Amino acid sequence: MAGVRLTVGNVEIVSVSDGQGDMNPTETFPASDIETWRSEYPGLVDDAGQIHPRFGSFAVSSGGRLVLVDTGLGGPDATLLSDMEANGIEREAVDLVVLTHIHPDHVGWNLSDGSPTFPNARYLVTKTDWDHWTQPEVRAQAPHVDAQMVPLESLNVLDLIDGEYSVTNELTTLPTPGHTPGHISIAVASGGERAFILGDVAHTPAQAQYTDWSPVFDTDPDLARQTRHSVLDKLEDEGTLVASGHFPHPGYGRFVRSDDRRIWQPE
Ligand SMILES: [Zn+2]
Repeated sequence: MAGVRLTVGNVEIVSVSDGQGDMNPTETFPASDIETWRSEYPGLVDDAGQIHPRFGSFAVSSGGRLVLVDTGLGGPDATLLSDMEANGIEREAVDLVVLTHIHPDHVGWNLSDGSPTFPNARYLVTKTDWDHWTQPEVRAQAPHVDAQMVPLESLNVLDLIDGEYSVTNELTTLPTPGHTPGHISIAVASGGERAFILGDVAHTPAQAQYTDWSPVFDTDPDLARQTRHSVLDKLEDEGTLVASGHFPHPGYGRFVRSDDRRIWQPE
């Protein structure tokens, strides 16, 4: 198994985690059934029949900049900051925070007591997601938007980006919509090597095979399903190394064919 550190050409990626969730798999993925989970993915389901998606972030060093992709769920039991510290990553060293989308488990450490948790960073999110989540009727149902997103604007640390944006000359965001309207993934290319930071295009390795399983959190389930199929097909065809925040620690692996089905092969 790979450690938390991954090298892609001149880019270094460190996998860090904010803890893990506790979810009912068939409530989360209504198209799934517990027998399939238990028989085919025994390692993902505990004795109580629950799954535990990780809240993972990636700290990416590229071109002299330190880029943190997503900021976890936050809260008293959250481990992102201690995990970063354990891996020698200082909060002050983060130059850019790139948010794949505005869900509570991806923006949770944007702010601490009203100040940016990463005091020297610009925070980047797509204008599409910002416009969606700051609509009054959406925002009213989504307390994380006021708690962890809106203050970034008045603190003057927020940059709204297009879906396709060069974060550095080795990191490019790509629109992968459906989970949220402005959801992005991040393509890494350096020194002839490639990797792909998936975001929430998929939430569990089971979706490698059961790619139609959409979680209830998808804003547009049909679009999310289309995106999931096209992205996973391409990653499988090209054998790209993938970094996935919700997959089991450290979240590195590839989508590969095995006996006529697609599986997640951890690195
Ligand atoms: Zn998520």
